[in-house]
Amino acid sequence: MAKVTIADIDPAGKTVLMRVDFNVPLDDEQNITDDRRIRMALPSIQSVIDRGGRLILMSHLGRPKGDGTDAKLSLKPAAEKLSELLGKPVAFAADTVGDEARTKAAALADGEVLVVENLRFNPGEKKGDKEFAAALATLADVYCNDAFGTCHRTDASMVAVPEAMDGKPKVVGFLVAKEIQYLSEAIANPQRPFVAILGGAKVSDKISVIENLIGICDKILIGGAMAYTFSLAQGGKVGDSLVEKDKVELAKELLERGGEKLMLPVDTHCGDDFKGDCNKVIVDAGEIPDGYEGLDIGPKTAALYAETVGAAKTVVWNGPMGVFEMPPFDEGTKAVAQAIAESDSTSVIGGGDSAAAIQQLGFADQVSHVSTGGGASLAMLEGQEFAAVNLLDDK
Ligand code: AMP
Repeated sequence: MAKVTIADIDPAGKTVLMRVDFNVPLDDEQNITDDRRIRMALPSIQSVIDRGGRLILMSHLGRPKGDGTDAKLSLKPAAEKLSELLGKPVAFAADTVGDEARTKAAALADGEVLVVENLRFNPGEKKGDKEFAAALATLADVYCNDAFGTCHRTDASMVAVPEAMDGKPKVVGFLVAKEIQYLSEAIANPQRPFVAILGGAKVSDKISVIENLIGICDKILIGGAMAYTFSLAQGGKVGDSLVEKDKVELAKELLERGGEKLMLPVDTHCGDDFKGDCNKVIVDAGEIPDGYEGLDIGPKTAALYAETVGAAKTVVWNGPMGVFEMPPFDEGTKAVAQAIAESDSTSVIGGGDSAAAIQQLGFADQVSHVSTGGGASLAMLEGQEFAAVNLLDDK
């Protein structure tokens, strides 16, 4: 069901507590090396402050150990970056629920922004602690979740805080609203044919996704190293390819359940070393010679998959078709990405490596949606329910 969004409420004169994902990469001098996550949160942030709301932003950053603070994982650089991007001052509190945060939150005027310190400096965050959550909840009149990357988690800021809001509005930000629209609603009621493309290193990471999508999709195209575990299950020769021998039985079961729906590569681009300049050979699937490993789908498979994608009305893609970081073994991934970009289907790119691949290949703006969450988008494709989303207000 669609959730109430931040655009649906009037934030004027109210304090909005927004969970964002400011988990940005930092170098050794605490400079932000990629500010995309902060920029992506700007529409929700701007929506509150432009309409006279008072905004408190909370996020985690990295994985601080213990329960103390860690200057290397402070959110202060993120607050400074946000100030630069907004072109106005942004207050920062060096705690989350202590005196400083409470005082600065109470001092916010309409249209002003406060960033509180890394939530994970408080052990209550990971534990989903109710007292910690209640202290955060009392800071605000409205709760907003715009942190899709952590929506599959039950950290305090994701679940216990909105639960502690006591009848006050609990809404989604624009980023989360879009993720739900594409990863949940478009997949629950897909236009057909609905084609999923699953790749990446391991079958074990994608088992639940395959199991869920077998029941929903018209075709599942398999690529990446996980294709070789399926090949082994069919009695194929996989040479030195990356395989999960302990998943062969499971692969057999999935092949049986999937039947015609599950499409496997028909040829393989192999190399005699894990290097771009190794000796290469293209062979039929299941015929990988000893001394060689499969590093990409072959050209016949790329053409077949591109054709299948071309006929689809809904496409979901998670995981590269080969070692796309190492040309020429990016060709299969490129062919699939291009086919998705050229099709007029509703196209959803799962987070993580496939999102990186579609950006790197320059097709990101030609697809319907590129998910910002790795683990979260995988969990949604597995059909998991998210407590952090379910408890928010329905439209
Ligand atoms: P995942 O995180 O499971 O989506 O896997 C992504 C990783 O799988 C990328 O780093 C790819 O380089 C890697 N990968 C894809 N195909 C192969 C392959 N044939 N052999 C080894 N690694 C692969």
